[in-house]
Amino acid sequence: MNTTKYIFVTGGVTSSLGKGIIAASLAKLLQARGYRTTIQKFDPYINVDPGTLNPYEHGECFVTDDGAETDLDLGHYERFLNVPTSQANNVTTGRVYLSVIEKERRGEFLGKTVQVVPHITNEIKERMQLLGQSGDFDIVITEIGGTVGDIESLPYIESVRQLVWELGEHNSIVIHLTLVPYLAAAGELKTKPTQHSVKTLMESGIKADILVCRTEHELSADLRQKLALFCNVTKEAVIQSIDAKTIYEVPNLMLEEGLDVVALKKLDLPEKSAPDLKQWNEFLSRHKNPKQTINIGLVGKYVELQDSYKSILEAFIHAGAANETKVNVVSIHSEYIDASNVAEKLKGIDGILVAPGFGERGIEGKIETVRYARENNLPFFGICLGMQMAVIEYARNVLHLENANSTEMNAETPHPVIDLMESQKTVTEKGGTMRLGAWKCDLKPGTLAHKIYGKDQIAERHRHRYEYNNTYAEALQNAGLVSSGINPDTGLVEIVELENHPFFIGVQYHPEYKSTVANPQPIFVSFVAAIVKNKK
Ligand code: GLN
Repeated sequence: MNTTKYIFVTGGVTSSLGKGIIAASLAKLLQARGYRTTIQKFDPYINVDPGTLNPYEHGECFVTDDGAETDLDLGHYERFLNVPTSQANNVTTGRVYLSVIEKERRGEFLGKTVQVVPHITNEIKERMQLLGQSGDFDIVITEIGGTVGDIESLPYIESVRQLVWELGEHNSIVIHLTLVPYLAAAGELKTKPTQHSVKTLMESGIKADILVCRTEHELSADLRQKLALFCNVTKEAVIQSIDAKTIYEVPNLMLEEGLDVVALKKLDLPEKSAPDLKQWNEFLSRHKNPKQTINIGLVGKYVELQDSYKSILEAFIHAGAANETKVNVVSIHSEYIDASNVAEKLKGIDGILVAPGFGERGIEGKIETVRYARENNLPFFGICLGMQMAVIEYARNVLHLENANSTEMNAETPHPVIDLMESQKTVTEKGGTMRLGAWKCDLKPGTLAHKIYGKDQIAERHRHRYEYNNTYAEALQNAGLVSSGINPDTGLVEIVELENHPFFIGVQYHPEYKSTVANPQPIFVSFVAAIVKNKK
């Protein structure tokens, strides 16, 4: 018999309340009590996955080991739980419809009229139970994207309603995350939006079991009582989620509020031991008590939107804590950097990260930044496009290959030092067709990369179409740009680095996706350490 229990998390009143963080925090507490817990996210948009979305639309696209391009909330799940997610952890409306329509084309519905209910809802319910049925988890938390009442959320809400009924009493609960706004003019916290949101949920046949209330001020006992009465939940099920300085404090705040205990009680599960948060709290304490501060310039083109580089920013938090250092990430727009102002733009910056990206916009500024870092012994770390820019810079300024470029930016370049991967040349569709997911990489002994990882082989996650052109490998190496990481199957250069520099490394993959609180990513950790050292 499958005994997996389900927790559904819905959101009300507004978007951006941080459902992902609440879900991840609850999962963390349950995990720390000894429950095997996972989180999945169901997103109501029609894109089959967020891979085709511009970062300005939906923030960063997170990539899993198995090559799924997913919502950035999966990054939070991994960073909190230190358990990898997969394709099954993120489902969109587009994915659901695609699969139902493919089944219809194959004739699987035997001539029936295919409808939202039951066909779409059945597909959703099946997918909601996929991870639970694997037997790997005691508790599956399902976050429903969007806000209750949205037209596009309806099939998900109906699916949750049916599932709650089918799973039977004590086998599932619904947590509703809402906002309790503070009206400054009245000097009061207001419960009405929450009441309305719970009512909307009720109209769809779902009773919230627990309310998590985002608020800027403490909820009084009276207010909690009022929320409980009008929203039809027990008093201990009104959970306050007050604004925190860092998302990493939220598990402790939820523990104080008893969110995990209420959830377990309603699921008829034992509390087991008190959550073991020793390692987590050690991290928090290092994070909150830094011994020094460094400024890292994040040079990219999506810098206006913090979420575009979410995993990179979080990886710096983990690496900062590991080094007891406050990492101040300064966003620098690459489009406005040129040879005449680069020194000015990078003033006060102790280390440079050139960000991933696509397309031509802002790349000359990135190349100029790499040159500056290389020539001025400023610690440098290039990720994906950032690594490609380092190769182009070296080809142009050290090998003197005029107009060397990536064929992504200039198809006619005389020196395509970065070129489309062979396997990409026949690709015509955009969605899910990049080189994605974890690939092996052999590290050359004696190099910086080998020293950083402390092993001969690693596997890191990728998301790209272009690659280091091996035609130029010998010339680049002879001139000092060392290829220190190579894919054992394809010979693809994954890491380049410089000797005789305080820290200079570029990686074709995305190390930021694998950084977690429990396992800070080694390059980020070493980069921060090198900057601290270099500064001294
Ligand atoms: N645009 C480059 C490529 O496709 C880099 C991609 C990235 O930075 N993620 O290879």
